[in-house]
Order: sequence, then C-alpha cells, then structure tokens
Amino acid sequence: MEKEYNPYDNMLAVLKEAAELLGLTEDQYATICYPERELKVSVPIKMDDGHVKVFEGFRVQHSSIIGPCKGGIRFHQNVNIDEVKALAAWMSFKCAVVNIPYGGAKGGIRVDPTKLSRDELIRLTRRYTTRILPMIGPDQDIPAPDVNTNGEVMAWIMDTYSMFKGHCVPGVVTGKPIEIGGSVGRVEATGRGVTIITEACMRAFGRNLDEMKIAIQGMGNVGGTAAEIFYEGNKKVVAVSDYTGGVYRAEGLNIAEIREFIKGGETLDHYNAEGVTHISNDDLLVCDCDILIPAALENQITEKNAADIKADFIIEAANGPTTVEADQILNDRGIVVCPDILSNAGGVVVSYFEWVQNLQSITWDLDEINRMLEKIMLTAFDDVEKLGREKKVPLRMAAYMVAIHRIYKAGELRGGPISLA
Ligand code: GLU
Repeated sequence: MEKEYNPYDNMLAVLKEAAELLGLTEDQYATICYPERELKVSVPIKMDDGHVKVFEGFRVQHSSIIGPCKGGIRFHQNVNIDEVKALAAWMSFKCAVVNIPYGGAKGGIRVDPTKLSRDELIRLTRRYTTRILPMIGPDQDIPAPDVNTNGEVMAWIMDTYSMFKGHCVPGVVTGKPIEIGGSVGRVEATGRGVTIITEACMRAFGRNLDEMKIAIQGMGNVGGTAAEIFYEGNKKVVAVSDYTGGVYRAEGLNIAEIREFIKGGETLDHYNAEGVTHISNDDLLVCDCDILIPAALENQITEKNAADIKADFIIEAANGPTTVEADQILNDRGIVVCPDILSNAGGVVVSYFEWVQNLQSITWDLDEINRMLEKIMLTAFDDVEKLGREKKVPLRMAAYMVAIHRIYKAGELRGGPISLA
C-alpha cells in the first residue's frame, strides 16, 4: 500500500537527521520535535443564504525560543492539523536560517475560499480572529498571508484584533495594505527572495543563469512575482502553471503578457500564443528545463516523479514541495535542491521589516527594504552553502543544521529545556 504523506513526519525525519549530524543528543533536541501550543477552533458563520456553517480552524505555535512566533494563515480545503504543525515548524527553521528574531507559527482554516462570497470571507476571518485572539499579538504571535490569504484578509484581522484591544494595533499582523501600516516591497518579497537565491545558487555552482531554462509551478503571488522578475532581467522562463494546468514554450514565455492575462481574472487553460503548448501540472514538473521552481503546495515532488525530473536545480518556493523519499532520489541523481526554508524566506524577512517599522512608527523606502532583503538572503545562502560544503551534506540538510544549531544555542542560553519547567 502506498505510504500516506504526512508533512509533520516529513519535517521530523529531516529535523532528527540534522540534529544527529550536529551531534545533539535526543534530550537536546526533543523540545523542538513538538509544537509549544496547538489550538483547534470552530468557526461558525452565517452564510449569505441565512444558514449557519461551521468551519474548522487551527493556530499552532511551534517555537518561541528565539522570539515571538511568526507565520502565515492559509485558507484551503485540505488544511489539517499535521499540515499546520509542519508549516509552523518550518517557520521556526526559516526564521532561524535567515537569522531574524522570531520563532515559528502557522494557522489555517479548512475552507475552499473560492466557494465563499466576500461577505462570508470577512465574517469567517473575523470570527477566526476572535477564536485565536488569546494567542496572537505583536509580542506573542504575528500572523501573515499564506496560501489564499492576502493583504485584505490581514486588514480584517488587524481591525478585529484592534477592536478587541480598543486601540489600533498594526503590529499584530504583517502583509497588511501599505495604507494601514504595511511595508513597501512585502507583496513581492517572497518571489524576489526566490530570484535572489536562484542567482546566488547559480553563482555558487558556476552556472550562467542567462543561458538556463526556468520552469515555475504556480503563478500565484510567489511564482508570479519570481517569473516577472526573471523575465524583466531577460531570463528564460519556459513553463508556468496555475491550478488549471500549464503552458510551455522552449524559446521562453512572454511573462508580462501572461501576468496581465491572469490579473484579468483568466486561467492558463485559456491562454494561447504563438509556439505555446499546453501541459498538465504533472508534465511541468518533469518538463525540459534547467531550473525547476515549485511555487504551489506541498507534496508535489514525490518518489513517483523524482526520477523523471530533468532540471539540474530545484529552488523550492513553496513550503514542503518535496517528500523525504523524493529528496533522497534527487540527491542520488546529483540534482541540487535549494530548500524551502531558505529559498522562500524573503516573505518573512520583509514581514520582519514591516513589524519593526510598526513597533517604531517609522517607514523605510523600497530601495532600503530591497537592499536589506538581499543582504539577509545572501548571508543566509552563504551560511548554508559553506556548511554544506564543509560537512559534505546537501543544502537542505545544511539549512536545517544552521537553523537547529541557532535554536538549540538560544535554548541553552535561556537555561535549557529543564530550567523552563
Ligand atoms: N506565509 C509566508 C511563509 O510561509 C510568510 C510568513 C510571514 O511573513 O510571517 O513564509
């Protein structure tokens, strides 16, 4: 029987291997094998037709050893507790890899948001916020956008939280619209970070990005922004996809045109241009390219397709797109994988800038934000790449080792797990 995919087990397997490579005993890393807090909530709302529907929601705080917990909220029909727990742990590791003073958290509601009206979504978000309210706050746990949530949703969360506190609290969420305390550069930050890491990776491996073919799965905020930045920099994006499927053109796609097409409310199955062929999302993962960027959901590169991947490099823009079994196959095949906790950390880095600006009531301009983002991403890449070379381990293992070492060190400085009792 096929093994059922559990993202939390996936995360634990890598965590344990990295901790052992660092020479930590089980006692020394046991604390981070478990989330600090898990909250499951019911979210009842009145639907537009007058009946009441109850949704299931979660907020998980994995670690607050280094700082307040940080992580997005997703609205998706497949959200479940194991997924949220894994995503929360990945946030702790992500923040530690890029060395920003946060722990990790994640939240979600099990809902297909495309089936809800805007008014229903507002009621859902507000009710969910009241349910998780005791757990969140600028010093405790700071949500942000994730799959199917955006600045507008963050604004509703900020407003609900502020109503309960009786004053405006912009620092309770990041990824807000700029008019209410959001940061310039935040919307593009994850995609921009992906392009910074891609360039750094090609430099480190002596490859010329200008001559390489890039395929991107997912044309949402992250994949779409990365594709656009590559396109503007005259790089060749040969394949992109959305949930309806993908398009391929060996000579490169007109990404500006495709972005406009999607912004107009269209899906890629309706996109046509000269030389463009339609492919499925499964085809995209194994298409003829040099760099593959999964920028959709987890569990995409599995033992079923890992042997067929043609790319030499995988830059993980989604969280958890590769299973442990697939990772092994990719490593054996010599394919370089830049792990999610490094490649997609740009979003949380600029979230951190937003939070700092909110706490101090100051604003930075776009040049300053992008300069600081690039510096942090490149330093993190260097830390990971150097350790990987020293210890002769793949980049994913090196990234986990950097992260776990930092979290462990912080825990020790705070007196260790026992003295916290
Ligand atoms: N949801 C994003 C992530 O997975 C951003 C989190 C944040 O900005 O807090 O990294």
